[in-house]
Amino acid sequence: MIPFNKPYITGKELDYIADAVGTGKISGNGKYTRLAQQFFEEKFGIRKALLTTSCTDALEMCALLLNISPGDEVIIPSYTFVSTANAFMLRGAKVVFADSRADHPGMDEDSIEELITPKTKAIVIVHYAGVACDMTKIMDLASKYNLAVVEDAAHAIDSYFLTPAGEKKPLGSIGHLATFSFHETKNISSGEGGLLAINDEKYVHRAEIIWEKGTNRASFFRGEINKYGWVDLGSSFLPSEVTAAFLWAQLENMSQIQQRRIEIWERYDQNLRGHVENYGIRLPEIPDFATNNGHMYYLIAEDGFQRDFLLKEMKSEGALAVFHYLSLHSSEYFASKHDGRELKNSDLYSDRLIRLPFFYELAIDEVDRIASKLTEILERYAFA
Ligand SMILES: *Cc1c(COP(=O)(O)O)cnc(C)c1O
Repeated sequence: MIPFNKPYITGKELDYIADAVGTGKISGNGKYTRLAQQFFEEKFGIRKALLTTSCTDALEMCALLLNISPGDEVIIPSYTFVSTANAFMLRGAKVVFADSRADHPGMDEDSIEELITPKTKAIVIVHYAGVACDMTKIMDLASKYNLAVVEDAAHAIDSYFLTPAGEKKPLGSIGHLATFSFHETKNISSGEGGLLAINDEKYVHRAEIIWEKGTNRASFFRGEINKYGWVDLGSSFLPSEVTAAFLWAQLENMSQIQQRRIEIWERYDQNLRGHVENYGIRLPEIPDFATNNGHMYYLIAEDGFQRDFLLKEMKSEGALAVFHYLSLHSSEYFASKHDGRELKNSDLYSDRLIRLPFFYELAIDEVDRIASKLTEILERYAFA
């Protein structure tokens, strides 16, 4: 069976872990944590990067940093992972779900403005499949209504937004805050892991305090103060050096990993584009303002029946294709809290989206085989 995902190991992970263990300091905020943070700051122009134990934790830090409290409203896409919403609901926010675009599972930027009320504090966007949202529209709305923007860039490492002026801005460097994930299903992984990107200077100082359990220990270790204590709310958000060392081995190889993943993406695309649309299948569209970082290759089936047939038949042919998010606004937990608006694109992607096997070690001839099986199955379905 070709799995949907298989974590890639570069080969240096255990060496760096051994090195971290050898230094005798394996708690957080050591050498490898700093290397990883510097990598993000230098490579992606992030003002201050803080490694976290997950993207979920980084999102929870965002909610704390933005002082989200009961009564505040936060606009979030319905088509996303639960953590995007949980982080803000844990602080008592009222989540207002937005729909996806018709041409892409990312949030429909044009649907946001009518959701803004005097209680709105933040817009949280998700760069689905590593494809940028229209950040010009988002940042303009944020400054017009004085809102904070959080980019959930869990899929979006090494992907870019191309500005109307022709600049190439790394995703995660544009919103006031942004979060990355190093879960084993993401391009760069440490098993579990994440990172908070702070792009607005005014959040930097407090972010370090929240990160270090509400203490000013980070300043203490830099020698800026001579004792540290409890100065604010916080929690334990920083990973150990064992995790950071593993991550460093991956980050060091990022360009090779990215190149390979883009190759796989393009091979799927060459095999499928022009061959499956006749069966009602839609293939990924990358808007002019976005780049592709080879995070995921997905298809959109003509309806739920065709989608379920494809998933089942692909499995019996030995390749594990999978569906993705289920609209959060109609989830068991949230349905009764939702305001009743229909979010039809989000529901459409919940019912029809398929992700194909995608991982570094997937061989090109396996990509070809998966694509040709898929085409055969579509033909069978059409004539059944
Ligand atoms: C994976 C993912 C997360 C959560 O990441 P963790 O590191 O597992 O906490 C959050 N948001 C999105 C969009 C994701 O894909």
